[in-house]
Amino acid sequence: MKELSKKLTERFLKYVSIYTTSDEDSTASPSTERQKELGKYITEELKSIGVNDAYLDPFGYVYAHLDANSCAEEPLGLIAHMDTSPSAPGENVCPRIIRYEGGDIVLSDGVVTRIKDFPNLKNYTGQDLIVTNGTTLLGADDKAGVTEIVTLIEYLVAHPEIKHRPISVCFTPDEEIGRGTENFNAEVFGAEKAYTVDGGLLGELEYENFNAASAKIIVKGVNIHPGTAKNIMKNAALMAAEFIASMPEAETPAHTEGYEGFYHLCEMRGDENEAILKYIIRDHDKDRFESRKRFMISLTEFMNLRFGGCFECEIRDSYYNMKNIIETVPEMIDNAKNAFTVAGVEPRIVPIRGGTDGAMLSYRGIPCPNLSTGGENFHGVHEFISIQSMTKMVEVLYNLVCE
Ligand SMILES: [Zn+2]
Repeated sequence: MKELSKKLTERFLKYVSIYTTSDEDSTASPSTERQKELGKYITEELKSIGVNDAYLDPFGYVYAHLDANSCAEEPLGLIAHMDTSPSAPGENVCPRIIRYEGGDIVLSDGVVTRIKDFPNLKNYTGQDLIVTNGTTLLGADDKAGVTEIVTLIEYLVAHPEIKHRPISVCFTPDEEIGRGTENFNAEVFGAEKAYTVDGGLLGELEYENFNAASAKIIVKGVNIHPGTAKNIMKNAALMAAEFIASMPEAETPAHTEGYEGFYHLCEMRGDENEAILKYIIRDHDKDRFESRKRFMISLTEFMNLRFGGCFECEIRDSYYNMKNIIETVPEMIDNAKNAFTVAGVEPRIVPIRGGTDGAMLSYRGIPCPNLSTGGENFHGVHEFISIQSMTKMVEVLYNLVCE
């Protein structure tokens, strides 16, 4: 186990040293060419381990397969993403390993991970934590997932006496900008069931996510010189403000948690001529999700009656709750729970307040719950991961694929 932890740590430190931030403004695939550098590195690494079919495709996806050495025929897929979030700097990551003995962690001058802000820290006393230097994110999301999968594969190749089922691996680009499955090739992947290894806290098992849509409200005004505007001007900015004020005040991200859905105003701009409001709509429950969309349409109709037809509403679905799909393969949840329990980790089933690549894949015919990586505080400088948690996750994955 010590040897495995050491290899895993070295591997993780190598991966996070490669700059793979994705870019939401890019239309290229992958969104940033630099992601392929990590893809190339991992492909070579897998080949050197003995996985000869490891392959980096032109879109930046790495595929690899490990044949079964048992009579189990059904392949299991393992998926993680190689990009890191554009919401924090991801270049020149300078990780540091500390033996955590309790208390706050000073990352650098003035940047401190405090227990009062991150109370989970106290669960890590006595563990070895990989932390940042306070200027970048760490990249455990999701290079920890990649590390854990590659380490499992390496272990299985080195121990041919251990019986396991066929394993399909895919490492994707651009998950953080919602494009991780855009060019996913299900045929090359070859598994009809898979897990993403992209969650946080050790033990997390997720198979419920939001149903998601975006709504764009376009308000068209009538503009005229303000000095002669009486009974003529229709100020689009003011009408847009009325729309915002008519939305349910408590149903926003700042007032909801757990299974509570929301409307989130994520952009507003405009003047007298035209105003644009962009919302995202989220709800775990399919019926409530549909009624949220209907509400926005009827509010638009109401505003049109009130202001004489100045409003348009465009709604587009983004993704759906994978629960409906996963419920048709309950053994995937049972197996995952069991894999955690056998490794001595208590499974924690939590609804995701967002989406995952697994949700997208589930609706493309590959049911795909999400497993923890063991990391914490993703997408910021306080991100950290414990080496013990990563090692545990290798054991959990082992339990999933071995007999
Ligand atoms: Zn992630």
